Amino acid sequence: MKYFILFGPPGAGKGTQAVALVERYNLKHISTGDVLRGEIAAGTELGKKAKALIDAGSLVPDEVVEGMIENAFNTYKDVNGFLLDGFPRTIKQAEALNEMLAKRGEELSGVISLMIPDETIFARIRHRAEVEGRQDDMKDEVIQNRIDTYHAKTEPLIEFYKNLGKYHEFNGDRGPGAEGIEKVRQSIYVEMDKL
Ligand code: AMP
Repeated sequence: MKYFILFGPPGAGKGTQAVALVERYNLKHISTGDVLRGEIAAGTELGKKAKALIDAGSLVPDEVVEGMIENAFNTYKDVNGFLLDGFPRTIKQAEALNEMLAKRGEELSGVISLMIPDETIFARIRHRAEVEGRQDDMKDEVIQNRIDTYHAKTEPLIEFYKNLGKYHEFNGDRGPGAEGIEKVRQSIYVEMDKL
């Protein structure tokens, strides 16, 4: 099995690129954000607990998302691997992932990191708010908290994965619209074809 992480700040284009990547490489896409939004929509206990944190732009507890990932690994067998989107987001989650993979006799195939400047994040998320209507995309202070949380808790993962020799970075801002998206996608294909 292949295990890829799609990494980057909010609004970097992870969800957009994931759609093509899972098809090209026959991967199961696991977005912890999508799973959590599903739990909220279904009104589960987990969703009720997670909602306030997500609406504030804060992270949900590590154990909650670690459980979701383990569950997905145990559920989907009929694929070439997994594309993790929005996980891990803390060093603790990254260590838990390493343990989960080691227990299975597997290892990480690579981290695909999409980088965009902070200035671009706001514009992208404001646009997404109009298209998708996500609650946590609506308020500037929530967007700012997500950016701050990314820098404080998630960005240290770049060094973590560089040290493991797993980190592959891509410019996530290659011009507007479908053409820019396609350029980013092609640059990812070139690397992922080798992993
Ligand atoms: P996303 O769709 O990846 O932007 O995630 C939306 C929200 O879900 C985040 O702002 C967090 O509140 C929560 N979330 C998603 N993934 C994680 C994670 N790996 N760890 C903690 N919280 C997460």
